[in-house]
Amino acid sequence: MTFRVEVVCLHEGGEQRCSVAELDRAELVLETLGISVAEGKSTLHGIQEFVAVQQVIEDLRRKRVCPACGRRYHSKDAGTHTIKTVFGAVEVPNPRWERCPCQTEGPRTFRPATAWLQEARTSPELLYLETKWASLIPFEKVVDLLKEVLPVAEATNSQTVREHLHAVAERIEQELGEERPPRDFATVESIAELPLPEGPITVGIDGGYVRASHKQGNFEVIAGRSVVAFRRKEGDSVPPPKCFGFVQTYDQKPRQRVWEVMKSQGMQENQQAVFMSDGGEDVRQAQEYLHPNSEHLLDWFHITMRLTVLQQQVKTLQADRPEEGSASSKQIVSIKHLLWHGNVDEALDRIDNLLMAINAQPLEKV
Ligand SMILES: [Zn+2]
Repeated sequence: MTFRVEVVCLHEGGEQRCSVAELDRAELVLETLGISVAEGKSTLHGIQEFVAVQQVIEDLRRKRVCPACGRRYHSKDAGTHTIKTVFGAVEVPNPRWERCPCQTEGPRTFRPATAWLQEARTSPELLYLETKWASLIPFEKVVDLLKEVLPVAEATNSQTVREHLHAVAERIEQELGEERPPRDFATVESIAELPLPEGPITVGIDGGYVRASHKQGNFEVIAGRSVVAFRRKEGDSVPPPKCFGFVQTYDQKPRQRVWEVMKSQGMQENQQAVFMSDGGEDVRQAQEYLHPNSEHLLDWFHITMRLTVLQQQVKTLQADRPEEGSASSKQIVSIKHLLWHGNVDEALDRIDNLLMAINAQPLEKV
């Protein structure tokens, strides 16, 4: 049997039909059940082309007469414009018309499609897909992936994907706004008027060193994740966690960047915010004074890491002075327990005792 896929456009003047695919099916086996990826791609491309062209024809029909005097515009030349979409490149009419005789100002001819087309060569949805994937996998792979499942234009290549990604990134950067001054909080009065806040926002933030290319040394990348605990109203969905990253020594708007991430998750200034970090100077700078109700915690991973280093040092001591060594080792274990239970004051006291006991130079507070 044969299937014909037809698209029908219903409009004021009647209807327009277009056959976009014919599928022949003989023997039924698993492989021939339904439509294949290739058939799906060509069918989608066919539908896309027909729908897009009909939309443009309709738009041109509406704009055909001068809004001032009602006379029909004269055609200067026909012309087309090709735009790449998720479902393939489509060529749409892009005529040039002459200015109406009732008008005296402005250019003598114009292209009516410019108003919505804005010279774009790629549809926003395709840009979105390209950018989303290109930020996760290599450009070449993005092209492979898109071509494998969608009827994107044959001409799509890694270079265009790269350029599109950079253009979108540039635009996002410009939309970021000025860097947030430290302690730029709303007034107490305006905070008091805010509705009850949602559950606390927890921001985990950490830094790591990356070697720069061409032997240009190292730089620190700070990355983090912002998580909202719960929504106050039942049924309101909790926004998904969001990640961010920047290079403190290069980025001119690190605070604004983190702020925007939190704001996009519905943060308000009376909401509790918890920052968890390794306590490092650079990491702290980025989050400092960002939120009036924020609490800054040293995360457990980094506390444990430092205590582990201390334990290793104690082992050296144990070799020399076994009794003192094992006492100190026990102290460190108890400090770890105290910190785990949030008993900071007691833990600090024990650290002081430990320091006196091993007669060491004062260490940095863990
Ligand atoms: Zn006119």
